Amino acid sequence: MGDTISAESRKPVELDQTSIGRLSRMDALQGQAMQFETERRHGVERQRIEAALERIEDGNFGYYIVCDEDIAIKRLENDPSVPNCIDCQRHT
Ligand SMILES: [Zn+2]
Repeated sequence: MGDTISAESRKPVELDQTSIGRLSRMDALQGQAMQFETERRHGVERQRIEAALERIEDGNFGYYIVCDEDIAIKRLENDPSVPNCIDCQRHT
């Protein structure tokens, strides 16, 4: 009797073609959404980097021009284009 049960559980799982089709469509949509998100982020990132380069040129790099606070080195190490200090970041 125990043998029958273990033989049953050893049977290969039957694949449901419909759910696979739905899954791959979802994968495709997710991939597309991620692609859009990546492109959007790149646009934002480029703006941030350009702004950071301008701050370097102006000699304003390393502190937040709005509140005059230093931007923590750790923050700049993590992302040199961060525009604001940690306090202002927390308040936005
Ligand atoms: Zn600040």
